[in-house]
Amino acid sequence: MAWDTTVTLGMGDVVSNESLANLLREERRFAPPADLAANANVTAEAYERAKADRLGFWAEQARRLTWAAEPSETLDWSNPPFAKWFADGKLNVAYNCVDRHVENGLGDRVAIHFEGEPGDTRSLTYAELQREVSRAANALVELGVRTGDRVAIYMPMIPETVIAMLACARIGAPHSVVFGGFSADALATRIEDADARVVITADGGYRRGKPSALKPAVDEALTRPGTDKVRHVLVVRRTGQEVAWAEGRDVWWHELVDRQPDQHTPEAFDAEHPLFILYTSGTTGKPKGILHTTGGYLTQIAYTHQAVFDLKPESDVYWCTADVGWVTGHSYIVYGPLANGATEVLYEGTPDTPHQGRWWEIVQKYGVTILYTAPTAIRACMKWGDDIPAKFDLSSLRVLGSVGEPINPEAWIWYRKHIGADRTPVVDTWWQTETGGIMISPLPGVTETKPGSAQVPLPGISATVVDDDANEVPNGSGGYLVLTEPWPSMLRTIWGDDQRYLDTYWSRFEGRYFAGDGAKKDDDGDIWLLGRVDDVMLVSGHNISTTEVESALVSHPKVAEAAVVGATDPQTTQAICAFVILRGGAAEDDGLVEELRAHVAKQLGPIAKPKRILPVAELPKTRSGKIMRRLLRDVAENRALGDVTTLTDSSVMELIQSKLPTAA
Ligand code: ATP
Ligand code: MG
Repeated sequence: MAWDTTVTLGMGDVVSNESLANLLREERRFAPPADLAANANVTAEAYERAKADRLGFWAEQARRLTWAAEPSETLDWSNPPFAKWFADGKLNVAYNCVDRHVENGLGDRVAIHFEGEPGDTRSLTYAELQREVSRAANALVELGVRTGDRVAIYMPMIPETVIAMLACARIGAPHSVVFGGFSADALATRIEDADARVVITADGGYRRGKPSALKPAVDEALTRPGTDKVRHVLVVRRTGQEVAWAEGRDVWWHELVDRQPDQHTPEAFDAEHPLFILYTSGTTGKPKGILHTTGGYLTQIAYTHQAVFDLKPESDVYWCTADVGWVTGHSYIVYGPLANGATEVLYEGTPDTPHQGRWWEIVQKYGVTILYTAPTAIRACMKWGDDIPAKFDLSSLRVLGSVGEPINPEAWIWYRKHIGADRTPVVDTWWQTETGGIMISPLPGVTETKPGSAQVPLPGISATVVDDDANEVPNGSGGYLVLTEPWPSMLRTIWGDDQRYLDTYWSRFEGRYFAGDGAKKDDDGDIWLLGRVDDVMLVSGHNISTTEVESALVSHPKVAEAAVVGATDPQTTQAICAFVILRGGAAEDDGLVEELRAHVAKQLGPIAKPKRILPVAELPKTRSGKIMRRLLRDVAENRALGDVTTLTDSSVMELIQSKLPTAA
């Protein structure tokens, strides 16, 4: 199923190859700002160096870390696809993220500026973080946690969450962070799958202006079969809500952790010691427990964080708005920034509490210089209106990042213009839970950026686009995104299920990692992500990407957000069905649907014209903010809904269904 642009059509519409080749013809280009380019951490030369000696390049990057035993070997690929990186090296991740900065005289540098949703704040220096992490590590040891034991973490976005993760890393107990928005059932299956011995949680966190409980979900999860090996629940008091208490099992953080010695000697672990298990977001189906290890992971995360965001730790204030429950939070809130000695913002709440300018207020308050967020948030801000960020001083910003979904060119332009003052580079970073770190992205001081494209594999990363038969496609064609060489922060397996690891990622194309995403190479050979392979539509013999039709819709001034699916159709195999959220102020009048259909036809060609367009108030999203097209497909095809457990808000689906009485 490659994106073939040469098929002739079976239906009335006659579409020239030219109009299909027009899909996503995005001509706008943005050169790196001269001053940024002149002082960039990474220059174009890095691509050459990595190309000439990929393993040598990574061995060099590994020297960013402080090893207790330097590795002599870079990659052991003798049993593919089970990789070992830096296998004879030894190190401690928490030491690398905290202690060594203190030893280097940076103890007074702020590591974390915490901003609670109700407005409470706390800043932690690296020296303070070292003491807190040491105390928490001692506390876990007192609770009987041993090297190799798994610890589940189910927390709001507060400093103790970062401290807990680092404490686990410090004692070599792999953590499994479960996003705090998940239900007791979702938590229970993850506790069971990882066979966790301790759960770290809080009474609750603040969400949308009120306390939102967490502890009851833990209590409920621990009544489920398979969770009986949990010995202790360590509870942070955050909101002061009433909590049920299991004597002997439950322990208050402030009672146990605060009385521990604030010194702890970190032990060095093998580079391949497990660091964490993290479940994928579940956009396409049952989440997979992705296993990451120590040395290779930290090497790539530290490198990419410094390269992609051009981080200058002595002067930048970095902010990633993800939740630590997702891989973005693991790699680019906890491990990357802290390994690099950065100063970062950690924000507990939602972007619209207590008002829709909250994020911009935070940027202004802390002088944030680097912002990393997701297209879903950018589109929400577009919908709320340009006047909101305009009220704040965002002039400190110098690099903007995006991750999580393909970013529509219009959203990209909006981000650059209204947040970045038409000055800051936007880096669209493609990667996955499985890849551990950023893989494909522009470099802000090097790449001439193209709105909507992740563009180029980073130095040391090998990615390409192939057709059904695993042949690399020529420029200008589409197919499947694959990674052709192992990389340091790659997943090592699916926890407890090597076979699923082989089947999911390594069986589709011999010797290549299949990412599950569709992609296209443009005439320059730059990569454009086209959405998940499962989301590609087949219309009258043409593969049409949901992303491209969505981007065409979002390029209409009245549309803030769009989700497109292919619904079974007797005439055309699939018919394009679009769900759109209108921008603030746009009226849903009779002519609108026709206007939007005509707009898509003009942008992409008649073949891509949606058969149905339905304005809706909300779209179904995973808790990580991604559109769940499979549920919309169920609606469009008038079927019972599939698994909704990873959906943020199930009432969204009822609302949509009620608007679609004549579905399919
Ligand atoms: P599951 O694998 O359980 O369905 P998921 O794929 O949503 O969940 P993640 O690992 O959080 O879980 O997301 C990775 C996916 O997100 C990528 O495979 C891709 O589809 C999408 N993605 C991430 N960043 C980008 C980007 N910059 N451009 C396009 N797509 C992106
Ligand atoms: Mg995935």
